This record gives sequence, C-alpha cells and structure tokens, in this order.
Amino acid sequence: MTDVIALANQKGGVGKTTTTVNLGADLATLGNRVLIVDVDAQGNATSGVGISKADIQKDIYDVLINEAPLADVIMATQHENLDIVPATIQLSGAEIELTPQMAREIRLKQALETVKEQYDYVLIDCPPSLGLITINAFTASNSILIPVQSEYYALEGLSQLLNTIALVRKHFNADLKIEGVLLTMYDARTNLGAQVNKEVRDYFKDSVYDTVIPRNVRLSEAPSYGMPISDYDPKSKGAECYLNLAKEVLAAHGG
Ligand code: ADP
Ligand code: MG
Repeated sequence: MTDVIALANQKGGVGKTTTTVNLGADLATLGNRVLIVDVDAQGNATSGVGISKADIQKDIYDVLINEAPLADVIMATQHENLDIVPATIQLSGAEIELTPQMAREIRLKQALETVKEQYDYVLIDCPPSLGLITINAFTASNSILIPVQSEYYALEGLSQLLNTIALVRKHFNADLKIEGVLLTMYDARTNLGAQVNKEVRDYFKDSVYDTVIPRNVRLSEAPSYGMPISDYDPKSKGAECYLNLAKEVLAAHGG
C-alpha cells in the first residue's frame, strides 16, 4: 500500500518544502521508495533535491493541464530511492486554466493512480494557498501533514485549512486524515517557543509530533546546494531531527 501525504499550510514560509524534501529523503534512506510531487510554482522542492530548471523537459503543469502521463515527468534524484515530479513557474497559470475544465479536482489523483504502486510514500509539497491545486493534492492524498511555524499567530489561518479539509472530505475524499502537525523553526530558548508549543498541543492534542524541528541554519543552507540535510550535513541538529520525524512517521504507519 502506498501512503500519499500532502504537506500543507496556506501560510508561506512555515517549512512545508523543507519538511517535504527532508522527510522524503529520510524515508528513502530508511528503505522506502519515495516520490515527491512538487505542486508549487516556486519549484523549491524541485531545486531543493538538486534538479535544475534546464534539465526539466516536462513538469506537473503538463500533467494537470495537458494530461501528460505522470510517468514521463518523474525524475530521479541523487538521493537513493528518491524521485521527484518537478514544478516550474509554468504552474502559476494552472489555477485559472483548471477552473473551467472537466474533473478539475481529481486530475492529480488520476495521474498518481498510474505510478503510485512503484512507491511506498508519495509526498505532495503544496503551494501557500487553498485553491484548486491544493484541493487536487488533498483529493489525491490519504492524509495531510501540517507544518506550523513556532511564531506569533502560529494557529492563525488553520481553521480555514481545516475547513478546506472538511470540504474535500465531503465532496471528494471521505477518508482523508490528518497525518500529523509538526512544529518547525522552534527556538527552545525563547518563551515564545514554549508558548506556541503549548498552544499547538492544546489545539491539536495527540496529532502533534513529539519531534520538533529547531531553527537550524544548516537547514536553510542545504537547498542552495540542492541537497537534503541528511546529505548536506548529516551531523547537524536539523538532520537529526528530520530523521527522528521520519522514524515517527514510519512508526505511525506500522513500519
Ligand atoms: P514553505 O514551503 O512553507 O514556504 P520553506 O520550507 O520554504 O517554507 O521554508 C521557508 C524558509 O525558511 C526557507 O528559506 C527555508 O530554508 C527556511 N527554513 C525552513 N525550516 C527551517 C528551520 N528549521 N531552520 C532554519 N531555516 C528554516
Ligand atoms: Mg514551499
């Protein structure tokens, strides 16, 4: 069975892409076949795993809009067991182009059905919005992992996210679950960090991972080298924490 997990939070800069890339790489290192699907026009997950624009022939836009076979778009990465469906800026028009189309909410799901069996985990890196692309991601997924930045207003906007999840459950995907809530960019030295940690745990209870991702400069450097943290600096605190997260995710899936 393949587990499809969307990483979502309509706020930008909360750690969706960092978590997609590093969780994906660590799940792969731990022996799982992993596919990352980049559905953000920024293409940060794509560059984050070392794929350069010049090498991309087709991307997720061609799949969603032109019905290109997903298998033709998948690219291997330098990291063993880790593949990616890239995104480019081309995707920025897709939201509008999808609107009048047939089956517009289920296109990603249909495309994934054709390749899913080849993977143990598919991680979908969502854009910072709750539009049609995110709805496609939720419709295609078994669960949603929500990164929450340990900052003021951490919980702000999450009720809209939960509303969107409820709508997708009602119309397209009744079994959609919350995979977990991850505290990112945590600074244990500040009162704010502790306060946000408590607030998020009070609100989401057991859905919050024990693992918390600290603010770690190595995590912010790794993308410019096109490497997951486990390859860029395996001894860093960030690498250690993302590996713990991967183990926690696997344990939750009985692996
Ligand atoms: P999103 O995908 O939600 O927009 P990103 O994962 O791109 O967020 O993270 C936003 C920025 O913060 C990026 O520059 C990233 O490198 C940096 N970042 C993410 N997580 C951490 C962390 N734990 N410590 C330090 N920097 C981080
Ligand atoms: Mg991102």
